[in-house]
Amino acid sequence: MKKLDIYRVLARKYRPKNFRDLVGQDVLTRTLSNAISEHRIYHAFMLTGMRGVGKTTTARIIARSLNCLNIIKDDDSNLLPCNNCEQCKSIDIGNNVDVIEIDAASNTGVSNIREIIENVRYKPVSSNYKVYVIDEVHMLSTAAFNALLKTLEEPPSHIIFIMATTEIRKVPITVLSRCQRFDLNRISKEVMVKHLSDISYKENIKIGNLSLELIANASEGSVRDGLSLLDQAIAYCGNQISEDKVRGMLGLSGKLEIVTLFLHLIKGDVKEALDIARLQYKKGIESSIIIQELMHICHWITTYKITGNIEEDITLADKDRDELIKISEHISLANLTRIWQMLLKGLDDMNKLSSSIASFDMLIIQITYASHLPDPATLVKSIQVGKKKIAEIGHVKINEKKYDKEENVSRETNTSDIDNKFKPDEKNPKVKISDRVIIDNLSDLVNLTEKKDEFILRSNLLSNVHIVSFEHGKISLRLKKNTPKNFISLLSSFLSDLTGIRWLITLSNEQGQLTIREKINEKALVMRKKIEIDPVVSYLLESVPGSEIRNIYEMNDSIIANEINESYEVIDEEY
Ligand SMILES: [Zn+2]
Repeated sequence: MKKLDIYRVLARKYRPKNFRDLVGQDVLTRTLSNAISEHRIYHAFMLTGMRGVGKTTTARIIARSLNCLNIIKDDDSNLLPCNNCEQCKSIDIGNNVDVIEIDAASNTGVSNIREIIENVRYKPVSSNYKVYVIDEVHMLSTAAFNALLKTLEEPPSHIIFIMATTEIRKVPITVLSRCQRFDLNRISKEVMVKHLSDISYKENIKIGNLSLELIANASEGSVRDGLSLLDQAIAYCGNQISEDKVRGMLGLSGKLEIVTLFLHLIKGDVKEALDIARLQYKKGIESSIIIQELMHICHWITTYKITGNIEEDITLADKDRDELIKISEHISLANLTRIWQMLLKGLDDMNKLSSSIASFDMLIIQITYASHLPDPATLVKSIQVGKKKIAEIGHVKINEKKYDKEENVSRETNTSDIDNKFKPDEKNPKVKISDRVIIDNLSDLVNLTEKKDEFILRSNLLSNVHIVSFEHGKISLRLKKNTPKNFISLLSSFLSDLTGIRWLITLSNEQGQLTIREKINEKALVMRKKIEIDPVVSYLLESVPGSEIRNIYEMNDSIIANEINESYEVIDEEY
C-alpha cells in the first residue's frame, strides 16, 4: 500500500520538460527551438492534434523556454530550459504568476476573455513574457473569440498566447490566421514502442517486445494512453510483465474463442456457436464488439485468400493465425463475402435495437444456417447447368420442375430489349426484301420497318396496334387513341411500295390482340412473379443485402452464362 502512495503515474513522472524529450514531434521541436532561440517569436501559437499527443506539455515547454533564466542549447541546437530556476520550477507546478493556464472548456464566455484582456496591458511580474495558455480553445463562444481577436491583432510585445485544440476546424479562420500553427502528430508505433521500452528500462520493469507492441497498438498514437496502459500493466503484473497478462488486460485473450466461434459459424454448428457467443457475452464483452471481432477475422481471411500474404496483426497469437490459415483453405470468397455482409447488417441492427442479446442470437443462428446453403455463385451455376440437383449441393429442397426448359417461355424478357427481339432475321425467306416479299404477321412487318429505317412506323406498330386479323394484302386492326392521324396512310404506302400490291387496311371495333409492347411487358411480369416466389431467388434476395431483381434472362443464353462464369469464383468447399 505504501508503494502505491508514493507511486507517481508514468505520464506525469516522464512528462517531457524540454523540446528534446518530446516524443515523435521532430518537426515541431526543431521549428520551435529555432524560432525561440533566434527571437523570431509569434505572439500566438496554435497547437492542434488528437488528445494525449502532448499539446499541454508542449505549451508548458514553450512557456519554460521563453522564461527560463538559465536556458542553454544542446549540440543539436535544441533549447534546454534548466528546470531548476524559479521560473522553471513554478511553471512546472502551475504556480507562475506570469504563465496563466485557462481551460476554455469551462471558461467559454466573453467575460472570461475580457478579464484576460484587461490584464494583458500589465507587464510580466518576474519573467520575460506573460504567457497565456488556452486549452481546448475551440470551446470559446463567438463573442469570446471576437474579443480575443482584437488583442491578437495588436498584441503587446510582452504577451504570448499559446492555444491548444483537438478540433482545429471549430477555430475561426480569423483567429487561425494570426497564429503560428503546429500540428502534433500521432506517435508512430515504432516510436511508441521505443519510448515505452526506455521508460520500462528506467523503471526496472521486465517486459517483452511483443507486449510493448500490444500496448503501443492499443494506445493508437497517444503517448498519454500508452503510458497509462503501461501503468495498468505494472499494477497488474508487478515488474515482470507477461504477454499473456497484457493480452488479458487489453481484452485480447478471447481471440482464440472468437476464432473458434467463426469456425463453428462456417461449419454450421448452431449449438456450439451459440454456446461460445453466450459465454463471451456473459464475460461482459459487448455483442457489438464480438461482431466486430468476427468481421476482423473475416477480413483477415479474405485478404489472406486473395493476396496470399499473411497480414501482420499482433493482436492475433500464432496459434490463432495458424487456425485462420487453415480455415481459409476451406471457405470460398463468395461465402466470406456473404458472412461479411450478414455481420455488417447484424452490427447495424444491433445499434438500432434495445435487446441486443436477442438479435445477436438470431444473427449467430442466421449465419450458421446460411452456411448450410450453397453460396450464390454455386446456386447460379447449378441452375445454369440444369443437370445437378441443387438439393445435392446444398440442403435446400427445390422443386426441380421450375428449371425445366419448357418453363422458360421467352429467351429474353427484359422490356428494354425489344430491339434485339425484332432484329431482322436474314435466314427467314419470308422477310427477305425483294419484289415478291410475303408479309403475314406483325413481327415481320416490324422487322421490315426497321430495315427501311421507318422508325415512326415501327414505334407505332409496336405500341399502338392491336391486330384483329393479318394476312398478306389485308390487315384489320384497332389503334390506340394517341396514334398519329396519318399512320394508316403511311403504313399503306409503305406496304404498297414494298410488295407492289395495294393493301386493304381496315379499322376494327374488335378488341384484337395485345400490342407487341403489351405482350412483352406481360411476359416480363409473369416471369418476374414466377422468379420472385422461387425459393432459390428469394433466398438469394434475403442473404445478399441490397440485392434486387433487375433483369431476367434464361440461363441457357451462352453469352450471359459466360459473363456469370467470369464474375464468380466457385471453390469446392469442405465445410
Ligand atoms: Zn530555468
